[in-house]
Amino acid sequence: MSIITVEQAIAWMKKINEKMQENKDQLTALDQAIGDGDHGINMARGFEAVVEKIEDTDYDSVSDVFKSAAMTLMAKVGGASGPLYGTAFLKMSVTTQGKEVGSSQFQQAIRAASAGIQSRGQADFGEKTLYDVWYQVADFLEEEVVDQWGGIVEVCQATIEDTREMIATKGRASYLKERSIGKVDPGSMSSFYIFESLADVLDWSYS
Ligand code: ADP
Ligand code: MG
Repeated sequence: MSIITVEQAIAWMKKINEKMQENKDQLTALDQAIGDGDHGINMARGFEAVVEKIEDTDYDSVSDVFKSAAMTLMAKVGGASGPLYGTAFLKMSVTTQGKEVGSSQFQQAIRAASAGIQSRGQADFGEKTLYDVWYQVADFLEEEVVDQWGGIVEVCQATIEDTREMIATKGRASYLKERSIGKVDPGSMSSFYIFESLADVLDWSYS
């Protein structure tokens, strides 16, 4: 069984930051369509701060890397997504505390993160939010061979497309009611970048 190392957890955060910077304008455009247009700015600012914090700190556990990410996102990102992603990484930190993080611990951590997002956002599956992606990834990791990280990317892409046809019933997009149909949820897209980064980081080390 593969073990996720501290170096990989750090590389994951750095890769997320790269993708948020690269796709900042796209995330902003998605949020302009059905929200207030700050999602790209929120993600770019938040993950840049996460990387700054991580580069300033010495880590001896994966759990502590996730804790830094959680605390930084909660402190630096205003808007709905900051507390939601902060909760996700905090749950991952708590779940992995004092443990070597193999595939099954990691799968449990993602499941806990998904549950944390749900309780924090009071969102259910199918409400056109980033929770849809976490829910589907958690399910995928439970059902599939958990080392097939690449499969996460397809799961996320399919879920993003599913959000297009949904009516938003949570967050700012819910103000648009039926007019939210036809647009992809911005938070689902940023969650895709989080998991695409994970697949990138784990693939290069296991291939
Ligand atoms: P804000 O909506 O405060 O401007 P962001 O633009 O950064 O914050 O994030 C918007 C994203 O947050 C949405 O696209 C959606 O995926 C997610 N979101 C908003 N409200 C909720 C909620 N109650 N539960 C889960 N996710 C939510
Ligand atoms: Mg917004």
